[in-house]
Amino acid sequence: MARTLLTAVNGTTLVGLGIAVLTGAKIRRGPGGILVAEGYRRKVPPATCFTIGSVIITRRTAEWLLDERRSGLLAHESRHAGQYAVLGPLFWPTYWVFCGYSWAATGTYGARNAFERHAGLERGGYRAAPLRPGLQRLRRSAATESPRPPSGSPSAD
Ligand SMILES: [Zn+2]
Repeated sequence: MARTLLTAVNGTTLVGLGIAVLTGAKIRRGPGGILVAEGYRRKVPPATCFTIGSVIITRRTAEWLLDERRSGLLAHESRHAGQYAVLGPLFWPTYWVFCGYSWAATGTYGARNAFERHAGLERGGYRAAPLRPGLQRLRRSAATESPRPPSGSPSAD
């Protein structure tokens, strides 16, 4: 699978495996070239699952993640693996820029984060959030403002 190969070549899967090994998580095979590192116990990040390269690291067991009832979450995390395939190590700074943008716009890290939206907000456990009130006002006034005639255009009267 291209995703598996690309994340191997760009080094991100190696980073994921390194973190899994260093934190004592156990690595298992998942579908589509995905690896699941189960039993992660560190406090950061607080999420149930997070993905580095083609490695999905979870606090739960691989069985829990691979259960049919979690197919949406697995699909969400697998999409992140695809994002790593495209961006390689650039995933990290870019992801954090989008977290910052989302936080500034909505007060949440996920709702306006292009990575999380692309992976599927709902199946990743994120909720859509409205823009902060100040931005909503700005958006409304920009939408209702009529376009100004170009300066220096001849007046009708
Ligand atoms: Zn996600």
